[in-house]
This record gives sequence, structure tokens and C-alpha cells, in this order.
Amino acid sequence: MSAWKSSIHEAGSSANWREKLPDLIGEISTWNKEIQPLVRKVSQGIRLSLQDGMLLYSYPNLSEIGRLANCVRTARFGKYAFFNSNVHVNQTNICVLSCKFCAFRRSKRADDAYALGVQSYLDDLAQYADYVDEVHTVGGLHPDWDVEHYETLFKASKKQFPHISIKALTAVEIKHISNLSQISFQETLSRLKDAGLASLPGGGAEILNDELRAIICNGKESSLEYLQIHRCAHDLGIPTNCTMLFGTIETLEQRLEHMIQLRELNDQTNGFQCFVPYPFLPDDSRLPEAQLATGSEILRTIAISRLMLDSIPHIKAYRMNIGDELSEIALQFGADDIDGTVQKESIMHLAGSTTPLDHDRVRLARLITDSGCIPVQRNTTYERFEIYIPPMPKRRQKLKMAYM
Ligand code: SF4
Repeated sequence: MSAWKSSIHEAGSSANWREKLPDLIGEISTWNKEIQPLVRKVSQGIRLSLQDGMLLYSYPNLSEIGRLANCVRTARFGKYAFFNSNVHVNQTNICVLSCKFCAFRRSKRADDAYALGVQSYLDDLAQYADYVDEVHTVGGLHPDWDVEHYETLFKASKKQFPHISIKALTAVEIKHISNLSQISFQETLSRLKDAGLASLPGGGAEILNDELRAIICNGKESSLEYLQIHRCAHDLGIPTNCTMLFGTIETLEQRLEHMIQLRELNDQTNGFQCFVPYPFLPDDSRLPEAQLATGSEILRTIAISRLMLDSIPHIKAYRMNIGDELSEIALQFGADDIDGTVQKESIMHLAGSTTPLDHDRVRLARLITDSGCIPVQRNTTYERFEIYIPPMPKRRQKLKMAYM
């Protein structure tokens, strides 16, 4: 198996990927006239505008948009698609806020409210520690857990499981911990980094528009605060992901403005490693006016993300949310990364996800090979990579079928 290394900034992406685009895209005249100007821009490495993004949302030929996004993805990563071995441990569902779309949060007095103390958290993690190298930890805004609690938690985790990278806390959790502890974002992140925090997962961006946020997640961090907290993390050398929750009540322009704000921050900080677009799941949550995204809209949004976000290396198909089948197709529509083995997850499953949680490395890698890609296991922060070819089921070889 071949293995290689990268830096947190390049994150495994080819450094000269723009130079490969003309060959991959080919003759502009072979593309439909309506999008030829836009294809030419991509081929020449020219950044797409909001108007270009709107054209991509209204252009009817979805497969052609997927093909263009796939060219960009191939320029950066060839046929590689990335995954990791991780587990989600959601430390508490008690939250002082009540975002309209959230099916996870509970009040402190709810019968099914829970808060994992440090030992319970470690016990939970211990069940998976032999199989994972990342713990993804996000949860509610607990009214009593300040920076000292999380310092204790992360130090204890690193002491017991030094091989497990801690990817934890969304921007609103950082804001809440800062407020409770009466210290700045910078000091909060710095102390948590010293305690063992390796990266931020990027959740909670929703749509970076304050009028919309006042409706769907009133009280959460503002758009500016989300960007400030990620900027602060990047300045401290903490890489982060960024996300977009779509299919609530936002407009297409607002989705694109959201992407543009993220790519502009990354022009300055180069600390976002991955963008994770995921649709709102309606079951059991509380936003009846949500417009809900269709399967083709999810694929289109993933492809557009790849084309708009030229400064962010990875686009993730978040299979916890969109399911395994759509994730497999998304790998041909611009996505190059797929959320890991996971094992345990509450937030999306309480919102209605039925994605299986028990994927071992073989099943996950097969999902990637089924999409025509080469599975590459990565570490949390995209610095170490290793190709992993899973044993294939024999029955597959009997079918006469074309694969990419
Ligand atoms: S989305 Fe996060 S901050 Fe909002 S209610 Fe749910 S747990 Fe709390």
C-alpha cells in the first residue's frame, strides 16, 4: 500500500491543479453553448461569481454540471476519494438554545436529557478506541461547562487515547464556552489547543445571513462571529472544516453568498480544509416552512460547492446526512471525501437519518470503489494518506457493467 504526507494547508491537494484543468475539461465547444463562458472560466482558473453560481442552479443539465465539478475534483485529487476511521461522541444534548431545525437539543429537565461526565465520555470512547483515530465531538450548549471542563476532558482523552485526534466544538460552542469563562475566543481556542484539541468540525454555519439566522437559529453566533472564530482558529494553527445547512428557508443567492464568504476568509487564512454541504432533514424537527432539498438538488449543490469554492481543498459527501447511495454518486459530482466509519452518531439520526452507523473500513472503502474512485484513508487533518483497496465481493466480477 502506498502512503504519503501533505501539509494541513495543501491537505493532499495537487499544488498545480489549475494547470491540469484545460486538458481535463477539453474543447470548450464540446460543452453546451449556454455554459461555455462559465466552462471557459473554470478551464482558465478564473473564480466564479455569484451570477455564475445562479446560472449553475438554473441550468437544466445536471450531469454536465457534475462533469465540470468532477474535472476540478480530478485536477486536485485524481481518482482518490478520502475517508477516515472515526467515531462521533456527542457529549451532551442539553442546550440553552433552541434552534428551529434542531431535533437533538433537550432542556436540562427533559427525561432523555444527558450529559456525559469526563469518565462517561472516556468509557464511551474506549469502546471504539482500537478502531478509530479521530473522535468527532459536538453537542449542546451546556449551561455549566466552561473552558476548564473541556480542558479536563481533552487532557484526559489525550492521556488515555494519545492516538485519537480530537475534532471538537462548533463555533457556537466556542462562543458559549468563551462567554461562560469570560475570556476571548482567542484565549478559549488557545487553551483548548494546549489541552489537546486538534481541529474544529465546522458545524453550525447554517447559512451565513443574520436575518435568516434570526429565524432558524435565534441566539446562535452571528455570521461575523462564525467567521471570526474560524479565523482565530486558523491563526492559532488549528485547521477547521466549514459547513452549509441548506433546504430550510434560504434563497439560492444566500447559499452562494454563504460560499463566497467562506472562500474569501480562506483566501486570507488558508485554514479551511473541507466544506461540508448538507441538507435539512425534516423528520422530528420543527421547521414546517422548510423547502426541503431533493436528491438532484443535493448533488447540484455539492457540484456547485466544488466549482465555487476554489480556495477550499476538500468537498465532503456527508453520508450521515445524505445516505450511502447519494454519497456514492456525489463522489462523481465533485465531492472527494466521505465521512468516516462513524460507529455512533446522534444529531442526524434524531433528525431522521437512517444511514448505517456500523461501517468498517472494508464497507466504507467498497462504497468508494463502487463510485469508480480509489479509497484513501487519511488522518483527521489531511496530513497522512494511505491507499486502502478493500477485498471485493466475488459476485461483482460476474456482472458485465461499465464503471468509471
Ligand atoms: S443546533 Fe446546536 S445550538 Fe442549536 S439548539 Fe441544537 S444543539 Fe443547541
